[in-house]
Amino acid sequence: MTDRLFPPLPAACGAFWAGRWHQPDAVLEVTDPENGRVVGRAGDCTAADVDEAVRAVADAVLAGPPWPTWQRREALHRAAAMLGERAPAFADLLSREGCKPIRDARREVQRAIETVRLSAEQADRLEGRTLPFGDTPRGEGRLGWYTREPVGVVAAITPFNDPLNLVAHKVAPALMGGNGVVLKPAEQTPLVALALIELLLDAGVPADRVAVLPGRGATVGAALVAHPRVDLVSFTGGYATGNAIAATAGAKKTMMELGGNGTVVVLPDADVRRAARAVVDGAFGNAGQNCLSVQRVFVAREVADELVELVVQHTTEVVVGSKADERTDVGPLIDEVSAERVASWVDEAVEGGAAVLAGGKRDGTYYWPTVLTSVPADARVLTDEVFGPVVSVEPFDSVDAVVTEINSLEYGLQAGVFGRDLDAALGVAQRLRVGAVMINDTGDFRIDAMPFGGGKRSGVGREGVPFAVEAMTEPKIIAIHRASQPV
Ligand code: NAD
Repeated sequence: MTDRLFPPLPAACGAFWAGRWHQPDAVLEVTDPENGRVVGRAGDCTAADVDEAVRAVADAVLAGPPWPTWQRREALHRAAAMLGERAPAFADLLSREGCKPIRDARREVQRAIETVRLSAEQADRLEGRTLPFGDTPRGEGRLGWYTREPVGVVAAITPFNDPLNLVAHKVAPALMGGNGVVLKPAEQTPLVALALIELLLDAGVPADRVAVLPGRGATVGAALVAHPRVDLVSFTGGYATGNAIAATAGAKKTMMELGGNGTVVVLPDADVRRAARAVVDGAFGNAGQNCLSVQRVFVAREVADELVELVVQHTTEVVVGSKADERTDVGPLIDEVSAERVASWVDEAVEGGAAVLAGGKRDGTYYWPTVLTSVPADARVLTDEVFGPVVSVEPFDSVDAVVTEINSLEYGLQAGVFGRDLDAALGVAQRLRVGAVMINDTGDFRIDAMPFGGGKRSGVGREGVPFAVEAMTEPKIIAIHRASQPV
């Protein structure tokens, strides 16, 4: 049954490459995870489609005239403004094909506007400088400099959980860097990505420099990564997929934003009320389907009872419901298999001795915000990425032991530290092996301009608009050997 179809669905709603919309024979039926209703359809592209698309983009970038920097800047500024005008429609589509309640979907659209605007503003990063050839006797008589040049063709592969802003984080910096882009959005949420590409074309992005091919990871994604004319793979998704991509990509340049298991340290002098609110927000936003989601809270024993009581109280106040309802805080997981997996991980923890202080209930694709304590050390809710609305809170006596434990985890994306004594909080922050530490915030915070990413299983390299533009361009040197100088 088709529900109400999104009015401004992308022109062809199939796929776009080689300067025009295509209607592949096979389609991906996109359903609302809340009720299973069809939201729309996208092309289910093949490896042969990928080959055509990559060749077309590569030819345009390598053989065609360069796209002047001022035109990139103006097109991206126009795109940001148009996204602002179309924001309500984008938020509606984003919410219906994905998991975000409408208020969160609106926030994501605002973030995406910012990401595109920031990308437009990066023109002045595309700079070089002269090189000191004369600093060595061998270089004498030469004058040289470097410029920042596009890497060529960027393959962008994105996940379902922030289906607009994470696409913007790859496509807009790649275009600003002068590259061509072939995008493969998540199979669950291709529509808002198609809509963004349509908007970029309307804003003046040259049609031969951009392509979007919805489809399966194992076909479209794998074919893109393996394609010899792809110069850089920018991937956001799970660790296992990241490993598969690394194995196929070989020596190709890759950027990877992978998972996390969001740690928070609450020191004895922390503002416990503030910490409790932030933990609940950070743990359950987007039903925990967020790489920055708060998953493990270490709280000083002196304030543990107070924090746990407040976390449980706020958790029971979280509104679970339909995404379309303005009051809803938490919607569904992306599919029933994911909800069952989260439930089974909680069950496993409980069998090992964990106590459920709130939640612990599933209904179809919905899993209720859940607070656990006394979780056994080897439970997957502690060691793996839950990617669901589950947080574990444990008291600690030694901050050194907590730092050691966090540093021994396999993920290292972002963390939060709460404490009034900034010197003590900073001491903890400096010792944590993660990509970012937020003091008096959880790790579930970023701005789109900051270097974003982590180490260990959390990724390779850094995204964040200025850093992505840098990673998607390379220095190129030109040097002149003066004819009057000896060879
Ligand atoms: P996923 O890894 O299953 O899929 C991500 C994308 O990769 C999809 O487009 C998928 O089709 C594609 N893909 C799958 N197999 C592939 C293959 N063999 N070759 C090429 N592409 C392939 O991830 P998901 O379930 O969509 O998203 C959840 C994961 O994303 C979580 O682990 C989450 O932490 C991570 N994530 C990380 C960040 C970050 O910035 N660090 C942000 C959001 C999500």
